[in-house]
Amino acid sequence: MPAPKQIAILGSTGSIGTQALEVVEQFPQKFRASLLTAHTRADLLIAQALKFRPEAVVIASEEKYLQVKNALAGSGVAVHAGRQALEELVEMPGIDTVLTALVGFAGLRPTLRAIAAGKAIALANKETLVVAGALVTALARQQGVPILPVDSEHSALFQCLVGEAHNPIEKIYLTASGGPFRGYSYEQLRQVTPAQALKHPNWEMGAKITIDSASMMNKGLEVIEAKWLFDLRPEQIEVIVHPQSIIHSVVQFTDGSMKAQMGLPDMKLPIQYALAYPHRLANTFARFSFLEYPSLTFETVDTTVFKNLKLAYHAMQAGGNMPCILNAANEVSNRLFRQGKISFVAMAELNEAAMQALDHHPAPALEDLIQADAASRAFVLKAAKVKV
Ligand code: NDP
Ligand code: MG
Repeated sequence: MPAPKQIAILGSTGSIGTQALEVVEQFPQKFRASLLTAHTRADLLIAQALKFRPEAVVIASEEKYLQVKNALAGSGVAVHAGRQALEELVEMPGIDTVLTALVGFAGLRPTLRAIAAGKAIALANKETLVVAGALVTALARQQGVPILPVDSEHSALFQCLVGEAHNPIEKIYLTASGGPFRGYSYEQLRQVTPAQALKHPNWEMGAKITIDSASMMNKGLEVIEAKWLFDLRPEQIEVIVHPQSIIHSVVQFTDGSMKAQMGLPDMKLPIQYALAYPHRLANTFARFSFLEYPSLTFETVDTTVFKNLKLAYHAMQAGGNMPCILNAANEVSNRLFRQGKISFVAMAELNEAAMQALDHHPAPALEDLIQADAASRAFVLKAAKVKV
């Protein structure tokens, strides 16, 4: 039997990270968690390290270093802290696959470092592809490393495309649950609270992506993610609301034939597929029953209400640093909404204002993206103060 695949889990204390560790636990002969990283949740990171005995852990928040260091003294697990350590440790020899399960722009540099070091990427951190899809995919091609999608829709598309390398795609349909506010008018949307927005009907996820799902920003980010993963033109990507979240996405080929991937909504499936690719591993996860879902339904998205989706298409069409500007604006507006400082609809308004206000750069290098990210964050913070 081959040695277990060595996995680095960036963001092991989050929703994707903890589910990835459940997958690792189910298949000890297949996977070993060699590196675990967290931002603030030191207690959980310590517990994970004692259970999974990785070679090393990184706590990004430096003030938690001593707590983690002391708790893991004598355990044989090396303890590091800070952003720099996170970027360096992904290069650790022996690691085969880096699962990027941290949130937002913070994932960009570690992902680039991992690709440069020749590691396969299991990509949950969609913001990285939104911000720097051109740089990331070019580097991955140059290094000959795969980017294996963990996002359920993109995993679905990836699975539909197995064996179809020479068959052009006509278009794809990204499915969307519609979130907790499906069918709401703009006026109704004005009134919704963070507590309501944090209750997703079908998926349990981290706070940021749960708000993005309610505001359709998540689907917008996924449209851009799909463009880079599957080399598509904007007009080839269509979003369709499918409230049951059973069909995870669809590829339509040039003969009009369509392939869909289905299953119960459970992120452990796409996580397992990305880690085990190209193999499928037998598991005991719950199975889908047709009779429990006698009707699978479909609707369009009203982008006059859910404006973020339209903004994402505009950003994708503009290209360059525009998706980075949108992403950064959204990271801030999303947080301000969660903090109760702005209304739900103000998120898209601020995102749009940032896109209009900041300079477009058609072919940004990494430094330009870092600058656009910072400028967009500063813009939204300033603009929001005016509004609050
Ligand atoms: P969570 O908020 O649950 O977890 C995020 C993880 O990243 C935590 O381990 C957190 O550490 C860590 N982290 C956060 N910020 C930083 C930072 N600045 N530097 C280093 N580490 C950081 O998020 P999710 O698991 O829900 O999402 C992770 C990514 O996966 C996102 O990009 C999301 O869009 C994507 N995704 C998630 C899905 C889901 O079902 N959850 C589905 C599809 C995609 P700590 O907790 O210790 O503070
Ligand atoms: Mg998704």
